[in-house]
Amino acid sequence: MNPIAVYVHIPFCPSKCGYCDFNSYAMEGEIMERTTRAIIAEIERSEQRGRPAKSLFFGGGTPTFLSAAQLLRILDAVVCAHPPTQRCEITSEANPGTADAGKFKQMRTAGFNRLSLGAQSFQDGELLRLGRIHKSDETVRAVASAREAGFTNLNLDLMFALPNQTDAVWQDNLYKALALNPEHLSLYCLTIEPNTAFYKQQKRGMLTVPNEEAQIRMYESCAKTAAQHGLFQYEISNYAKPGFECVHNLTYWRGEEYAAYGPGAVSRIGSVRQTRVKHPARYCEAVENGFSLYCEQESLTENDLRTEKIMLGLRLNRGVNAEVLDAQAANRVIARGWIEKTENRFRLTPEGRRFCNQAILELI
Ligand code: SF4
Repeated sequence: MNPIAVYVHIPFCPSKCGYCDFNSYAMEGEIMERTTRAIIAEIERSEQRGRPAKSLFFGGGTPTFLSAAQLLRILDAVVCAHPPTQRCEITSEANPGTADAGKFKQMRTAGFNRLSLGAQSFQDGELLRLGRIHKSDETVRAVASAREAGFTNLNLDLMFALPNQTDAVWQDNLYKALALNPEHLSLYCLTIEPNTAFYKQQKRGMLTVPNEEAQIRMYESCAKTAAQHGLFQYEISNYAKPGFECVHNLTYWRGEEYAAYGPGAVSRIGSVRQTRVKHPARYCEAVENGFSLYCEQESLTENDLRTEKIMLGLRLNRGVNAEVLDAQAANRVIARGWIEKTENRFRLTPEGRRFCNQAILELI
């Protein structure tokens, strides 16, 4: 059986950040234990049981908001269902405000070998504005604790174009992140999504973010600065030391299969994509009563799969296989200077990265 990527969604956070549109809930107490039991039950009943895992990824929400014992019970269940391959990447996202040295040690001992820390900014004022529960010195301490616990593969998430952010402040955040010597960086532009507190504030004129020109400047500074510190861009928003590219996310970007468990988690096995019930209590009810776990199920056509391959593959520096693209459409986009051909692949040019969505629309 081919190894697959496996995702586990932990939907709880201590509070909801102003910009967050992830499937996360500011809930705690009994529902966390009930959801832990439900996720384990879902894993134990999975039709994908027995397929080895090349990556396991605990995302959220905030996985480290669970107790170490709950997190490790889920890890045990998933490892039992999906025996990890020899070099399996086992990641947990972690919020610097919800993890301590003891929890990191237990996680490392149990088999987690990669941590993804949501740093987001190194300015306490910005963290407060975002609604994050941690301060910048907690991120520094979390990195030290992770290293002490034996993690040799750390990602830091940062966002740019935050409310009222200047280029200088963004550069300061980036340098502070790089000073912590992470193996991997994810650098995302803040996007204001509907159904978030930030969206309402923006509508009322209470939130101002840097304009598009400033966003492009901030984005373009990322690759150069990261490369000076030995982290190379391999995807539109991701940078890594050689050999530390994220195995799990590469699976998505390459259009390969992935299993998933937990409230709101999305899997794609073969051509079938399934989205699990999102609300933790509804998800638990479905598992406990043997009801269908899915709020959406779709059978992807050949054309859907090809479109996804183009959309996701173009995010990668290596681009997509030439045979996936229509030659005429590719030539039109080459003429605009947005993609280029390298051997038998097409990839975005630096200019094309700025117009990624338009380039993709033209190609599909
Ligand atoms: S910590 Fe992450 S998942 Fe949780 S509310 Fe904030 S942005 Fe959303």
